[in-house]
Amino acid sequence: MNNLIHKIKNRDELTKEELSHLLALDDFSEIFRLADDIRYENFGNYVDIRAILEFSNYCKRKCKYCGLNSTNKNVKRYRMSVDEILETVKTAYDAGYKTIVLQSGEDNYYTAKMIGDIVRQIKKHTSMVVTVSSGELSYEDYKYIKLCGADRYLLKHETSDEKIYSYLHSCGTLKNRLNALKNIKSLGYYTGSGFMIGLPFQTLDTIANDILTLASIPCDMAGIGPFISHSDTPLRNLQNGSTELTKRAVALTRIMLPKAHLPATTALGVIDSKEKDNIFSCGANVIMRKVTPQKYEQYYSIYPSNIKVSDIYKERKILEQQIKNLGRIPV
Ligand code: SAM
Repeated sequence: MNNLIHKIKNRDELTKEELSHLLALDDFSEIFRLADDIRYENFGNYVDIRAILEFSNYCKRKCKYCGLNSTNKNVKRYRMSVDEILETVKTAYDAGYKTIVLQSGEDNYYTAKMIGDIVRQIKKHTSMVVTVSSGELSYEDYKYIKLCGADRYLLKHETSDEKIYSYLHSCGTLKNRLNALKNIKSLGYYTGSGFMIGLPFQTLDTIANDILTLASIPCDMAGIGPFISHSDTPLRNLQNGSTELTKRAVALTRIMLPKAHLPATTALGVIDSKEKDNIFSCGANVIMRKVTPQKYEQYYSIYPSNIKVSDIYKERKILEQQIKNLGRIPV
């Protein structure tokens, strides 16, 4: 153990076996402290606040864990118009958000040309950093959207285990997912990936390998959250992922990727709002807040959630205060 602490302090890379060993520790408190120190060295006490706008819940994929999967007939589908998207982004900008994440299911209705035009408009009228998260696209489409001004792309690899990946996704392969991430990175996007904790057949070795996958891309941002069971999916009877294991995975990711932006994922706050605060002491430095209009937000039901959007301005102020209450500085 002392040898591993020494390696972490020395900023040496950890192997899969070492990561797996650390994930299983009885007492993880020293590792949390080291991750928090590394977070502080790189980001001080600042917490980045980002707005996320979920502009369509149509999805052609059949991911077994996700409430948006195309086989779920119980969800009302919506698509926001370009004007609605731009109006909502403008409101978020006026409320103080400097980064917007445009997220959707994999929805062919929005062509690269449309997404590119939306990005162009946002860039023309605001100084916002724009992240797109609309799933797997062709190299040409990623390229076009980048040329239109998109700064970042978020595409979680979900799991680095080929067998688990193919069990969960009859609609895609891990190879394609990782290839898409490679394309995104090569085009100069600030690249985000991530994975879930609590997937079927997942072991500590799988999680260790997930962390190494993030490092191999290498990711500039990584969202790590617990799986949350959704009653309209094939995984309805599976338990939610562990919040403790999620925090451990975030801490080890901070150690492996000192400069990466690591959000306290919404999923963690859904299971336990206190845990979402705690995660800022485990290596996370980012928080995302939904700005999806109320009339649509209830239908973006990836997993059941009690987090509601009512007033973008008020909620931004409340969030800033919550961050200050944790002794951190919102930016
Ligand atoms: N279509 C885009 C994509 O594939 O990246 C973005 C939308 S997708 C719904 C966003 C993320 O939601 C996924 O990357 C996945 O990790 C997460 N997600 C979906 N279902 C979930 C669940 N039941 N529990 C926790 N996270 C889930």
